[in-house]
Order: sequence, then structure tokens, then C-alpha cells
Amino acid sequence: MSFRTPSTPYAVRLPNMGKHLYPLPINPLSTGQFAELLSNVPRERTRAQLYLHLPFCQSICTFCLIQKYQLTLRSPVVAYVTALKNELIAYAQLPYVQNLRFNNIYFGGGTPSMLEDRYLAEIFELIQRLFTLEDPQITFEGNIQSLTPEKIRFIRRLGFNRLSTGVQTFDSDLRQRLNLVPTEDDIHRCLNTAREEGFDDFNLDLMFNLPGQTTAIWERDLLKATELCPSGLDIYETVLAQRTRLYGQVKRGELALTRDPAQLARNYTLAEEILASSGYEQKNLYVWNRRHFENRLMDSQDQIRDQELDIIGAGLSSYSFINGIPFFNEASLSTYIQRICHHGHAAVSFYRPTPSQMMRRFMIVSLQTFVFDRARFAAAFHEDMDATFFQEFASFTQRRLIAHSHDGYRLTPLGRAWASTMAIEFYDTQYLQDVMRGRLEKRIAVGMTREEEYDHILFTFFHPEIILKGPIDLGLLLKYIRLLKRSDPGWLRELVQSLWERSWNYRRFPWCHYLFLGLRMLRGRIFIRGT
Ligand code: SF4
Repeated sequence: MSFRTPSTPYAVRLPNMGKHLYPLPINPLSTGQFAELLSNVPRERTRAQLYLHLPFCQSICTFCLIQKYQLTLRSPVVAYVTALKNELIAYAQLPYVQNLRFNNIYFGGGTPSMLEDRYLAEIFELIQRLFTLEDPQITFEGNIQSLTPEKIRFIRRLGFNRLSTGVQTFDSDLRQRLNLVPTEDDIHRCLNTAREEGFDDFNLDLMFNLPGQTTAIWERDLLKATELCPSGLDIYETVLAQRTRLYGQVKRGELALTRDPAQLARNYTLAEEILASSGYEQKNLYVWNRRHFENRLMDSQDQIRDQELDIIGAGLSSYSFINGIPFFNEASLSTYIQRICHHGHAAVSFYRPTPSQMMRRFMIVSLQTFVFDRARFAAAFHEDMDATFFQEFASFTQRRLIAHSHDGYRLTPLGRAWASTMAIEFYDTQYLQDVMRGRLEKRIAVGMTREEEYDHILFTFFHPEIILKGPIDLGLLLKYIRLLKRSDPGWLRELVQSLWERSWNYRRFPWCHYLFLGLRMLRGRIFIRGT
């Protein structure tokens, strides 16, 4: 078991992935509802981004939690491209979308560079014809193997102005273990070719806290990356998501991920130090750019927080944020193709945030940008931020995670290293219970981590602030525990350990939580539904 030490404000470090997407769109949605929700027209000139998911990959990386499929001769590529184009056409017919101005187009995946040139050209030309583009950044994601000189030349001529690829690590042993096929020489060659073809804007992704990645290896990775002088670096923390090969390897004891929260956080701080000293400007929790470059997809949190930006996601499992409402597309390849064929759209789930959840969302997104801005909060909600989140601010200040600033509060260096863990303190009971229902009804397709599975129970059941925020459905909780029991043989040990660690995380002992529960039961605010 791990324990909280004076240098770690939390005993457990939670992965950074997806927290800023709170609340995840996990409630079921019909095609009729989707059309109705988008029937109105947005304010004049709302800015928007278009993300396309191209889900085919040459080989599958062991850690990857994204919805993707290995490309084989039997992959339904033609049917998928046709469906994707039809989805774009259906979006373009909506009055809401017709009023949007797109300043960012992102071909992501999966591996867009696995797609044949003729399909890329068809999709690209369709986008130019259907949507209003305003000086767009147009990014093409690819893997080193399929970013051949011919492919790079072709997409440059087509009109792409930015490239992005996932390096993850330069360490050859680690690369082998993660099934990352290209070598360091291949990475150098690819970057040089891209520059010769006119791609000055070439972004690299790196990952830290990989299994077996010591701090020395991580430091070498950062230094090697900066020597290549990419326009930007996205730094992601390893997320041990279920349904990945890495998850199985760690569960079977073949690979080990460190659980020491202090070391995990130190690796983040190391990235901040090395990248700052190499001239990179930190834009948010994940993104660093060289001067004059930007990452419009990942560095738009403040616009999303202030609802000044819509995201249209096309392709399977894509995320959209339209008119203040988040949506997820169908995640299975065959069902996505069928849905588009029958309905034109593939959005299958959404979440309509309550006013209180919109405030929480504001706070969670603010964590990504390191600033809790008092004036912006007041302008958005006509409420006093300090009074609304008094408890959270008091607790964060006490733990030296935030400090007062002229505009509100700013994250300290310690806070920046723990921002993703802080995010969950803003979650609410209603949302956590909706997540549990989504899991039980198999509506959540995004890769969830075990940590998150247990968090949902523990935060709902044992976090006193959350207990006081809304009613708890004990029947749902029991069903959820049964689900864990079925899917994880070590569930009881895991649950007890998580409970112990969380009690340290939030400086409350379990008896204290039970007391709150008892009080709330007496007040009739906990109810039990039939299981
Ligand atoms: S990391 Fe990229 S290339 Fe690897 S499996 Fe995932 S989507 Fe495919």
C-alpha cells in the first residue's frame, strides 16, 4: 500500500486522460433527439474545429486505449470512407453547422497515413466544399512507417500544413516492449523529409511513466526530442486502460508500473523544467510549443471553457461538443457504418449538463490551463467563484496546490504536477452515478482504467463532500460492485486498498464517511432501488 508523504498531496495519482471532457457524454441518445438538439442556429460566427477519426493502424501499440482496428486485406476501408463522407454531408446540411467557421481541421485516429491517397483526397476536397474554413490549421496524424516521402509530399500538396506523430519514447528496449516498430533512425529520417517538403510545423507526442521507463530514460527521451526541435510536444502520462495488451501484461506481472505517486509527479515536473530550458512554452497540462507555433486541437481549453468553440467529431467513437452539449459517436466499426447508412448521423450518447455541472466543468477545464479566473466565472454564471467552491479552494490552498493571484487562483508547480488528480474533486454524485449506469449498460466505449472504476465507487460512497452534494443510489452501487467482482479476480483487495489510499487522499478516515452516510440516511437523502 502507498501512503501520503509530505511531498505528495495525494496518495494515488490519477491518470490525466479525458478529465477535461467532463461530463462525458454517456446518456443514450436517439437520432431524433440529436436532430432536435441541433435544430437551432448558433450565435453569429461561432468558431469550430472539425476532427476526423480514421481508425486503421498498421500494428497495435500495447498501451493504446483509442478505438482502432488493425488494417488487413479484409478491413472495410471503402465502406468506412463512404460512411465518413456521408456523415460530413449530413453535418453540413444542419443549419447549426452551416453557421460555424472552422479554424482547425484534424485528421486523427488511428493512423490517417494508412489511408490510400485517393481516399484522403476525396475527404479533403469534400471538407473544403462543405464547410466554411477560416485560415485553418490542417493537421495530419501519421505513424513514422507510413509517413513515406511520397505520402508526405502528397499531403503537403493537398493542403495540410501541420504534421503530428507519436514517438512516445526513444528507448529501443521500451519501444520493442510497446510494439512501436520504427527505430530512432526512422524518426530522424521522417522529420528531415517532412522539413524538406515544407512542413515546419511538425509535432511529436511523448509518454511518461511507461512501464520500465526510469527517470533517467525519461530525461533522455525529453532531451532527444528537444534536439529534434519539433514545433510542439504533447506530453501524455501512461494510462493503464482495460482492454489493452499493456493492461494484461501488468495484471499478469510481466511488466510493472510504479505506483509511487511522488516519483510519478516528479517525472511531470522534470518535463516542465527540460522543456522550459529548451525554449518551449507550456500552453496547458499536455501541450508545449515553440514560439510562433500553436496546437489548435489541444490548446483550446479556454475557448471550450468559455463556450466560444464547438467541436464537430466525425468517424467512429468521435467526441463532439456542439451548442454546449457533448456527444459521442458509435464506437464499433460495423455499427458505425450501418448507423450512417440508415440515419446519416452516428451520435449515440450525450450529456446535458446541469447549471451546477457547467460550473464544475469550468473548474475542471480551468485546471488544464492552470488558472481559476474569478471574473470569467462571474461573467459565465453570475455567481461568486470563491463562495461556490470554498471547500475545494481551502483544501487546495492548504495542500499548496494553488496560490492566490490577481485574477483568482493559479496552480503552483506542485498543483500543475497533480492537476489531473485534483480534477476529480469537482465531480458530483449525479455524474458518477450516470457513469456507473453507462458502464453497467455497456454504453461506455472509451478505455476506462481500473483506477477510474474504483474511483467511481469510492468517490460516490466515501467522499464526504460528494455525499453531501446529492442523493446516492445504493442499489446501483451494489450492482456496480458486482460488475467489478465479475471482471477483476482481485477486486476485494483492490477495493480495500483503494479505500485506504483515498482516505489518505482526502484526509478523511472511513468511519467519518460512514458517519456522513448515516446522517444522510437519517435525513432520507439516500435511497435504495431494487437490484
Ligand atoms: S498509438 Fe496510434 S498507431 Fe498505435 S495503436 Fe494507437 S492509434 Fe494506432
